[in-house]
Amino acid sequence: MKHRIVVLGAGYAGAYAAGTLARRLSPADAEITVVNAEPDFVQRLRLHQLAAGQEIEAPKLTDVFAGTEVRLRLARVTTVDPERQVVTLADADGGGELDYDTLLYALGSHGADHGVPGVAEHAFDVAARPSALRLRERLDSLCKGDEGGRVLVVGDGLTGIETATEIAESRPGLSVTLVARGELGAALSAGARGHLRQVCDRLGVTVLEHTSVEVVEATRVLCADGAALASDATVWTAGFAVSPIATAAGLEVTENGRIVVDRTMRSVSHPNVYAAGDSVYVIGDSGRSLPMSCASAGYTGMQATAAIVGRLTGCKIPNIKLEYHGNHISLGRRDGILQMVDGEAQATPKFMGGRKAARIKAAIVRMSLWTTSHPTFGLPKRKHHLAAVPDVSAEKAAA
Ligand SMILES: Cc1cc2nc3c(=O)[nH]c(=O)nc-3n(C[C@H](O)[C@H](O)[C@H](O)COP(=O)(O)OP(=O)(O)OC[C@H]3O[C@@H](n4cnc5c(N)ncnc54)[C@H](O)[C@@H]3O)c2cc1C
Repeated sequence: MKHRIVVLGAGYAGAYAAGTLARRLSPADAEITVVNAEPDFVQRLRLHQLAAGQEIEAPKLTDVFAGTEVRLRLARVTTVDPERQVVTLADADGGGELDYDTLLYALGSHGADHGVPGVAEHAFDVAARPSALRLRERLDSLCKGDEGGRVLVVGDGLTGIETATEIAESRPGLSVTLVARGELGAALSAGARGHLRQVCDRLGVTVLEHTSVEVVEATRVLCADGAALASDATVWTAGFAVSPIATAAGLEVTENGRIVVDRTMRSVSHPNVYAAGDSVYVIGDSGRSLPMSCASAGYTGMQATAAIVGRLTGCKIPNIKLEYHGNHISLGRRDGILQMVDGEAQATPKFMGGRKAARIKAAIVRMSLWTTSHPTFGLPKRKHHLAAVPDVSAEKAAA
């Protein structure tokens, strides 16, 4: 019987990993199935652009995996049962179960509301395509009508900064306010912060610092200091959270639900489960955990596939670097910031701001799309046959 590998999620980590596995393992021995809720590859890095009204490419996953022998299952994963080695799926036909021998969990993340009342009911976000499209519709109606046009972006992390500047540039008729809990761009170097302020001024983005939003209502938000800020569209960008599926499955997770793995991306509690991308908690080469990011999705996806192939074929498992060098932030289409960070993930004084930074960011985004939508390009064509498949239950017992 073939070894059944199931990859959950076809985002930056999962799509690349599924293609890589298909290229490396002989289809005579291994059957690779990727499960994804959406039929397209979603460029999450560009969802703020989609919300602002721009068109972004969304390659069909059937095209991405064409010729790779990867089986694509369009369905929503609802549960994972690692004891029975079964994944439960929901789709238009009622779903069903999928058995696996090896699981690669790469379900990414979604916007975190941090329990703030009203976020789920009244706020928009750019963490997923459907929600970005809902925001875009709202911005369209604000631009058409005369009901106002006050957009409040809550959260001045990288996503909030990118979203506020993108909307301000694409829709100059709207008034955009960026609400920051502390000082604007606190995680950036002094130089980068100064550049960010200049760009916000140029684009007409009002910055409200040291402001904590405690309640979101339909037409306003209420702040900790008692202030009420009127808003026609509140965009919540105050961080990301992961799906509760891994926790419910009984996998060892951190307190916020990210799967704890070893250096090879293998679950520390369930040896035939691997994880990659935003879902995984892993200590990088600097000794700190890798942040949720596209670069981390790439490195963790590569390491997970290298480990799966190595363990199944008896080949040596290489150590893929697990590093994080910096933040690439777009500020609309004509400006940006590249902020270098040190081994402690702290901003160094080294940064680049301006048009060149915007071009580099755009090139990185294009490259991420290209490598993900051509997941087998450039890999060795040699297909490995499986060695005697290790008995993971025996390994688990020994551990
Ligand atoms: C607006 C925005 C801008 C960003 N900008 C940057 C940036 O500039 N640089 C950077 O490094 N990072 C950025 N990020 C973060 C980056 O997008 C993520 O870190 C990255 O997408 C993680 O990759 P992933 O493969 O783990 O998850 P994803 O890319 O989210 O892929 C997860 C996949 O799983 C699918 N899925 C989820 N749940 C289920 C389910 N239950 N059943 C079936 N399928 C499911 C999803 O449809 C998706 O296809 C940005 C994020 C956003 C939202």
